[in-house]
Amino acid sequence: MDYTYLTPRQIVFGWGTRVRLGELAATLGKRVILLVGGRTLTQSGEIERLENSCRGLGLDVERWKAPNREPRVEDVDSLVESIRGSASSFEETVVVAVGGGSVMDLGKALAALLVQPERVSVREYLEGVGSGRTLTVEPLPIIAMPTTAGTGAEATKNAVISSESPPFKKSLRSNGMMPSIAIVDPELTVSVPPEVTAATGMDALTQCLEASISRRRAPLPRLLAREGAGLALRNLELAVRDGTNREAREGMSHAALLSGLALANSGLGLAHGVAAALGMFVNVPHGLACAVMLPAALRYNLDCCEQDLSELADQLPEPPARDVSPRQRAEYLVESVEKLCESLGIPRSLSALGVRPEHISDLVKGSRGNSLDGNPRGVSNGELKAVLESML
Ligand SMILES: [Zn+2]
Repeated sequence: MDYTYLTPRQIVFGWGTRVRLGELAATLGKRVILLVGGRTLTQSGEIERLENSCRGLGLDVERWKAPNREPRVEDVDSLVESIRGSASSFEETVVVAVGGGSVMDLGKALAALLVQPERVSVREYLEGVGSGRTLTVEPLPIIAMPTTAGTGAEATKNAVISSESPPFKKSLRSNGMMPSIAIVDPELTVSVPPEVTAATGMDALTQCLEASISRRRAPLPRLLAREGAGLALRNLELAVRDGTNREAREGMSHAALLSGLALANSGLGLAHGVAAALGMFVNVPHGLACAVMLPAALRYNLDCCEQDLSELADQLPEPPARDVSPRQRAEYLVESVEKLCESLGIPRSLSALGVRPEHISDLVKGSRGNSLDGNPRGVSNGELKAVLESML
């Protein structure tokens, strides 16, 4: 056995911990590039309070707004250019990203790109589509503060960047892009509406389940993934139904964090492979795409992961009886996930997401990549086509 385990230097988890931003940022630098996402926290004055907590400790703060979508090549490039234009040097600068997965990914890409001596598009550095360039200068330190409970991007070293033409969704990846500090304050997720809570929460659950059975799973991340899966299975429905429930919000924020730690150190699988293609070709948001694909991905892997899936069934709020066979326990887990999706209003078919038969061949091609390679059972183009067609 051999594996590497990479993690943020410091994880600060807990209700209300956002007030520690200034104190924590001051350990990393003197100047803060604060990247913020949606309007809710700005309108409620939360972002201003965060800025003040930094300024109160003598830090310079410059606020930048992230576009309201999963980051594209042109979003990264134009922000890099604007921020470069506003500063003569990035010495003692820390990037603080406050938002959902898209904002944290954009923050990580900025931290990497702002300090590279070559002024080229982020595209050049992306896996599979760039010119194979690698980062030559260590990225700026990053503080990630998630405001949704989903992608776990606060604990991963990659940023997913997409493009519309040509269509792709690829990662910028570097150990130096792992946030130095993750501040996970579940209270920030209280204002997230139910449908976003459901989709992002299903992303965390999918990440935990896929990382648990991935071909590249390793002992330590697997333990985290299993714990995260249990938290998501036990808390997601309640977090969607009653967004103010503190225990449910804490459970989901923790599940998302664990899912990030797990996936950053192992692999994913079929659901994530297809989710990338659904994002590229049909514009389906990542969490929703994962949610729709998860039951099918679990079924696809049922034969080869019977034992692992049967053990994961113990994490259900109502686990199966002890005396049933591993096969039945594994099937019970898959059925429970299907029921969870149904209760959350997640559509069962790909056509409900706008997928048409003519999309299938693009989806098959677009699903290839890092995630699909991690799937425990091999996936040929023919097999993937059959899975997707059965879901139309
Ligand atoms: Zn995901």
